[in-house]
Amino acid sequence: MSHSPDGRRSSPARSPEAVVAAARRLADEVLFPASLAVDNGERPASELLDVLAAEGLYGLHVPADLGGLGLGREAVQLVMEQLASGCLTTTFVWVQHLSTAAVVADADGPVREEWARRLAEGSRRAGIAFSHLRHPDPPALTVTPVKGGYRVDGRAPLVTGWGMVDAVHVATRLGPDVVWLLVDAVEGPTLTATRLELAAVNASATVALSFAGHLVPEGRLTRVEPLSEWRERDAAGLRTNGFLGLGVARRCAALLGSEEIGRELDDLRSALLGASEREVAAVRARVTRFTLEAAAALVASLGGRSMVRDSHAQRLGREAMFLLVQGQTAAIRAAQMEELAEGLRERPS
Ligand SMILES: Cc1cc2nc3c(=O)[nH]c(=O)nc-3n(C[C@H](O)[C@H](O)[C@H](O)COP(=O)(O)OP(=O)(O)OC[C@H]3O[C@@H](n4cnc5c(N)ncnc54)[C@H](O)[C@@H]3O)c2cc1C
Repeated sequence: MSHSPDGRRSSPARSPEAVVAAARRLADEVLFPASLAVDNGERPASELLDVLAAEGLYGLHVPADLGGLGLGREAVQLVMEQLASGCLTTTFVWVQHLSTAAVVADADGPVREEWARRLAEGSRRAGIAFSHLRHPDPPALTVTPVKGGYRVDGRAPLVTGWGMVDAVHVATRLGPDVVWLLVDAVEGPTLTATRLELAAVNASATVALSFAGHLVPEGRLTRVEPLSEWRERDAAGLRTNGFLGLGVARRCAALLGSEEIGRELDDLRSALLGASEREVAAVRARVTRFTLEAAAALVASLGGRSMVRDSHAQRLGREAMFLLVQGQTAAIRAAQMEELAEGLRERPS
């Protein structure tokens, strides 16, 4: 351990390559062997989240003086791909935490004092509720300033990690602004979680979260920003979700022993890393189609055995389907529909 200027211990510096290699080892040796049991609900994903925290992966973006690894965007994306090749459910729950840890590290006031280091170390875990911001008005979640804090009303339709996270970073609307609040993940008379039964990544414990005059102390405010600025950041951030698909495809290629799929994967990774903002939706669509086809090839190669619940093929097939809608925006939906239609047109008559 080294020490930061305020005398606190900070993590020793690790190169991006070393962190990606550690993620690959964890994916192959810990996550993948547990993935079917996690998917079936026989083993809690929280056990694997603890392993990721012990490896320092909860603070990837966070500066070292706050207990994080201080990695840049590209290294974070490569870590995501590795982990997704091990267990998508665990990786999906973990991913929800990352931006919150970075925002809280960058915030002012009590929320940073109390939460920044704990989030970076993974001793406290966060989920996030923001995708409703992509919907047209009226806002799904509104906030009203009250004495000592904020009152939140409305519904977040998809919040992952319930029961595994200590807090949810909730995007609420106040007129043209987005007000972000770190809300304790504890049900009560004004906060209700309704579990969704999912066809894939069911063990991610995804809920719809309803707020009925829920009070949040003022010390839990992390950020206020215009919705227009958030929309720009959202569009720029959509590249990252594609690495989950590359991870699923990577596992399919490994199980198939296919060098050809492996080479195509390398090309797609380069395309995703290098795409301009205008190109991202089209490359994401290519990743989605590639992931679906890699999973389909695995299922077909194994025949009927692939349908048995302890076959990785059926799990990966359902996960490839899930990745069609996860992290989707109108632009990505349109690009995916075009890509899939093109695939149908390419079929020999
Ligand atoms: C299993 C699962 C877990 C997820 N977990 C999280 C999470 O933890 N946190 C998080 O923030 N997001 C989460 N998401 C959301 C995800 O990231 C995508 O944003 C979402 O899946 C996109 O959904 P969609 O394609 O159905 O589009 P949607 O955004 O739901 O919308 C579909 C279309 O309908 C329109 N529409 C939707 N609602 C309205 C409305 N009220 N009025 C008028 N038009 C409307 C939209 O504009 C769009 O054109 C999760 C999704 C899934 C499937």
